Amino acid sequence: MAAAPLRSVPGTPDSARAFRCLDGLRSLAEKGRFKAWFLDQFGVLHDGKQPYPGAVSTLEKLASHGAKMVIISNSSRRASVTMQKVNSLGFDASLFVGAITSGELTHQSLLRRDDSWFASLGRSCIHMTWSDRGAISLEGLGLQIVKNVEDADFILAHGTEAIGLPSGDVLPMGLEDLELILKRCVEKKIPMVVANPDYVTVEARALRVMPGTLGAKYEKLGGEVKWMGKPDKVIYRSAMMMAGVDDARACVAVGDSLHHDIKGANVTGMESIFITGGIHADELGLKSFGEVADSAALQALSCKYNAHPSYVLPSFMW
Ligand SMILES: [Mg+2]
Repeated sequence: MAAAPLRSVPGTPDSARAFRCLDGLRSLAEKGRFKAWFLDQFGVLHDGKQPYPGAVSTLEKLASHGAKMVIISNSSRRASVTMQKVNSLGFDASLFVGAITSGELTHQSLLRRDDSWFASLGRSCIHMTWSDRGAISLEGLGLQIVKNVEDADFILAHGTEAIGLPSGDVLPMGLEDLELILKRCVEKKIPMVVANPDYVTVEARALRVMPGTLGAKYEKLGGEVKWMGKPDKVIYRSAMMMAGVDDARACVAVGDSLHHDIKGANVTGMESIFITGGIHADELGLKSFGEVADSAALQALSCKYNAHPSYVLPSFMW
């Protein structure tokens, strides 16, 4: 299907601010425009509970056109968990070159400590984590989980539902209480590592608060935050290495978050495809799956986030 004409934001260079509205990925795939495709999972492939309509077959068709696909996700879980998750939802995991998650980058960085920032980070941490959504293992990292801010070298944020206890159990805690801990940590001037920079995620149409919200709060209070995922270049570089592609212009990132997926692609110099039916659906006034977003609303939202997609699509469809 032919692409719609370029829409541009008045008063800005077309090359920087224009996007093309698509009704499927077929035209891009058939032209072989991109060697590597970096796919977000939540809000693109699935909603945490089930795959979006057409997503499983779209993935298969993309693969049949030679696309090298890597999942890049701000999930705080390890890459292997993401592969199991997409497999359990009906996707053929063998179609991906692999997956890179914020949780995996965090784990590897804390394990290797081969850059100066992580090398100088202490071992005692306040662990903000999940309870209902399932615990995060810190096994093998040589960390001491502490409950008192006075004993902590840093904060590690994997989740927003609980704090980890020295015993290995978790203590469920609301956001307000977690923020009180952050205030005490700022006073102690300890850094925070955010193992999932997302602010919210979709979960069967509802939005859930993610650790990026705690990171943003900590920065606002004056704290130092290490963001371990999109929109930081670190995750895109890892994905390019995994796909064996060294030119960002040969890659395209697909995602539903302007601040994370699209901004990250902008920063890294690759093109991007914005899926409108994910976390921004309500802001765009979308009521049903597959509904096409209004062009003026899209332009306003891109400007609000200063994140500019190359292509716009209602859902991950062929
Ligand atoms: Mg997403």
